[in-house]
Amino acid sequence: MPTTVTVWNEYVHEREHDEVADIYPDGIHGTIAAALEERGFDTQTATLEEPEHGLTEDVLDETDVLTWWGHAAHDEVDDDVVERVKARVLDGMGLVVLHSAHYSKIFRALMGTSCGLKWREAAETERLWVTNPAHPIVDGIDDHIEVPEAEMYGEHFDIPEPDSLVFTSWFEGGEVFRSGCCYYRGEGRVFYFRPGHETYPVYHQEEIQRVLANACEWVTPNRDRPEVVRGNYDSIEDIDTSDERSVH
Ligand code: ZN
Repeated sequence: MPTTVTVWNEYVHEREHDEVADIYPDGIHGTIAAALEERGFDTQTATLEEPEHGLTEDVLDETDVLTWWGHAAHDEVDDDVVERVKARVLDGMGLVVLHSAHYSKIFRALMGTSCGLKWREAAETERLWVTNPAHPIVDGIDDHIEVPEAEMYGEHFDIPEPDSLVFTSWFEGGEVFRSGCCYYRGEGRVFYFRPGHETYPVYHQEEIQRVLANACEWVTPNRDRPEVVRGNYDSIEDIDTSDERSVH
């Protein structure tokens, strides 16, 4: 059964700036969804302006993986929807957080830190160096990816220590950045992936699309996994209670 990916985008810049619309005529979500469809995923898209931002209980229930792109309108995302998404991640839904969504409510809620960073827009070269070559997210990727024109993000990036750091970026201006970060949260997996500024055609780049697909696969929950048991629990072994002290 193919994995169902819901590609979420605030979809603001593409409608307000011709420069962005020229790069992403179907929206950033349209480009990402098409790239994932080509690679075997079932995709649907959702945007900020839809009722409940397109993320109703029904949509989230059928979603294995949610990807999130936002920048200009983080504050317009309803807190109830954020809570609903967070609950689904803790329950196993995969989440791929993209570029400026480092400041999204959902990422900050799952990280518990400010998620602040340095930035600069100067169309500079970025090299994403693979820092965990054994990780499935870098399957098919050489030892680095070069993005010819990128917005710079620099350390310090205020995130919890990643469970695995898959990419570290270098920028022409000299900064470095943890640009591919894996986390486990509850029963869910989260991947933060840095590239994706709206005025550069980053999501059209083959290696970037490959990483997006690998990431969606890595965060996909196993539908057949056993239910997690919590609470008061009977012992499997017989316990010798002869020495039990009375509390009365
Ligand atoms: Zn940006």
